[in-house]
Amino acid sequence: MALKNSYLCDLMKKVEQRNPGDTQFQITVRSVLESIEPVVEARPELIEKGVLEMFVEPERIVKFRVPWVDDAGKVHVNRGYRVQSNSAIGPYKGGLRLHPSVTEDIVKFLAFEQTLKNSLTTLPIGGAKGGSDFDPKGKSDMEVMRFCQSFMNELYRHIGPDCDVPAGDIGVGAREIGYLYGQYKKLTGQYCGVLTGKGLSYGGSLARTQATGYGLCYFTEEMLNAAGKSFKGATVVVSGSGNVATYAVEKATQLGAKVVAMSDSNGYIHDPDGIDLAAVKQIKEVRRARIKEYVANHPSATYTEGCSGIWTIKCDIALPCATQNEISLESAQTLIANGCYCVSEGANMPTVIPAIEALQAAGVLFGPAKAANAGGVATSALEMSQNSMRYSWTFEEVDAKLKQIMVGIYHNIASAAKTYGCEGNFEAGANIAGFLKVADAMLAQGVC
Ligand code: NDP
Repeated sequence: MALKNSYLCDLMKKVEQRNPGDTQFQITVRSVLESIEPVVEARPELIEKGVLEMFVEPERIVKFRVPWVDDAGKVHVNRGYRVQSNSAIGPYKGGLRLHPSVTEDIVKFLAFEQTLKNSLTTLPIGGAKGGSDFDPKGKSDMEVMRFCQSFMNELYRHIGPDCDVPAGDIGVGAREIGYLYGQYKKLTGQYCGVLTGKGLSYGGSLARTQATGYGLCYFTEEMLNAAGKSFKGATVVVSGSGNVATYAVEKATQLGAKVVAMSDSNGYIHDPDGIDLAAVKQIKEVRRARIKEYVANHPSATYTEGCSGIWTIKCDIALPCATQNEISLESAQTLIANGCYCVSEGANMPTVIPAIEALQAAGVLFGPAKAANAGGVATSALEMSQNSMRYSWTFEEVDAKLKQIMVGIYHNIASAAKTYGCEGNFEAGANIAGFLKVADAMLAQGVC
């Protein structure tokens, strides 16, 4: 698809000029503008009132130095970011990522996507993202704590329970959220719901840990059911073995699927007998070790070094749950040739755009990240509600709300796609449905 509307073409040129070298951000904005072209043509007031120009420019970008001291007394300096993309429908909300690949471009594109995703949840949350190029891998607990405290020493100025509520993402789990929360409390003297993904003993929500993976499966099951299919009896490949992957495997298995492969950033395991998830949790969650250790106690399994080969394993359903750009065009073609009929994104932007186009052209059901993995942020918003009420719902109550939200998201995006002439294109439907709510709020709030 290429942009045809002259206003949108000019706007895209401006985005390229204003964000030179930020290729991931440019790709994402282009793809969203392409999807919403029919909306823009149907609603000229969006152009007249400058809504689109405001929409593609983050409201605020904060970039800061994060100095910390390692266990040997050596000083290190990392760079921290918080991109607050859009607050039209609620306080900024989005995860913090700690990984060497973090750049302003990555954080900016994730924040932009987060705005649309958060809108789809139907909950009152705006879009943001943050992080640092710090690598928690191989660091001691004390080093991670010192880093998190230093990161918060700057971040606390820009966040708050009614202003911006960060959460976890790659490299930021319960341990890091705890250290960040402790430092925020110390700096501000406030005990409030300023972060989500907190431990249960200090304001966390039951089912938040499971939410993204479970939500992915609830969404995917609804999409499959609408096409007369289901997880039941299906063979599934899941990439990654972190938070999202682990609970996607758990729920897919509960729904009757057989998951045969998982991976980490070094390589992948293939177990035709079905992945023993308890063993993976022991390796990755408890011992923080490498997934290749799985084969030592599972004679039916093999380990292969390198990640992309995971998509050569024959499957009915593929759930990419590791990181961005992990399904290339070539991987998509292999999945299609092997009879895969559904790809649903647990990670953010794991499928490159030519691969998405190839999957859609081949009639593969494609669940885009901003819809399929919105369960994490939706449950974070439920955590915010519980914090505001000073009350906790049971696991079953949160899980039921999560399921209802994910089923609702599927129907909302399917119907938006149909209304705007692209039935079955859930990527376009998600962009349109997410954008419409934000755009209406922006129109109501004027130029700000
Ligand atoms: P984790 O850090 O818990 O896990 C990430 C997993 O992906 C790890 O197994 C990691 O391996 C693996 N991985 C990292 N890079 C690569 C790579 N290049 N190739 C293959 N595997 C890789 O992160 P999450 O599970 O929380 O997040 C995964 C994705 O889901 C991200 O895109 C994130 O933005 C997205 N997401 C997460 C949400 C959440 O609630 N956690 C919510 C919505 C989206 P290793 O162990 O070697 O590092």
